[in-house]
Amino acid sequence: MKWQGRRGSSNVRTSSGGGKMLGGGIGGIIIAGILWLVFGVNPMTALQTGQVVAGGGDNTSTEPATSDDRDTQFVKVVLADTEAVWHQVFNEAGQTYQEPSLLLFNNQVSSACGSATAATGPFYCPGDQTVYLDLSFFAEMRQNLGITGDQQGSGDRENQGKAGDFAQAYVISHEVGHHVQTLLGITQQVSQASRQVTQTQANKLSVLQELQADCFAGVWAHRNQQRTESIVAGGFLEAGDVDEAINAAGQIGDDRLARASGGAVVPDNFTHGTSQQRVYWFTRGLENGNVQTCDTFSGAL
Ligand SMILES: [Zn+2]
Repeated sequence: MKWQGRRGSSNVRTSSGGGKMLGGGIGGIIIAGILWLVFGVNPMTALQTGQVVAGGGDNTSTEPATSDDRDTQFVKVVLADTEAVWHQVFNEAGQTYQEPSLLLFNNQVSSACGSATAATGPFYCPGDQTVYLDLSFFAEMRQNLGITGDQQGSGDRENQGKAGDFAQAYVISHEVGHHVQTLLGITQQVSQASRQVTQTQANKLSVLQELQADCFAGVWAHRNQQRTESIVAGGFLEAGDVDEAINAAGQIGDDRLARASGGAVVPDNFTHGTSQQRVYWFTRGLENGNVQTCDTFSGAL
């Protein structure tokens, strides 16, 4: 996947000193973020003036990601790519897209959805409209998926980064898909419906929600390809990229997420459906580039 030289998002932050389970600093930031959303109070102002006191000072904090390391740059570009595409989709429907935040963390993090560890895997929290990504997951993913990419033997990859890039982009885009579901009210409908049905039926709804996020990731890839054709020759996709994402769709799922531990409430720790289903819906979104085709619920809500 070609990603260098494009705009990076300013919505990416890095959690530093992430060794503490319930760091007041992060809690403070999150509360400040909620204040911001609800009351329009700038979180930085709120923190500086001490309006938000959540456990007092410790060394856990978030800061804008200023680091130039490859993973951070990559994440910024992919998030910006999702912003461009979803602004376009929402505009076409006469609506306004609200951009999510993305927090990069190491080891542990607190979110409005509870605390999470690196074993949780990437997730989206509707409560603070933030995508959470642990950097070790990325490193591991590149290692595991890189083998597939190397076999493609494309010379371009040496210039553009490493194999596995698009699979990582797919993961980010899937989480952003959950954000889109939140903006569209689908997340809320699912959780409301889930309270009124059996556990088995609730699990089914959860799977449909996951598959729709896969389809939205496909829609993003389709539209981003169109969009980037005017920026970079041949668009951002390279040979083997789609196979990479399909491979990832099969691999990143239940077994990885089943390692989530410790009572954290994490939206993405439910089953994601079979590999076959995930591939089907991702491909459907990718081929059509239209959110209307992502009707995984088809009357279930
Ligand atoms: Zn998901």
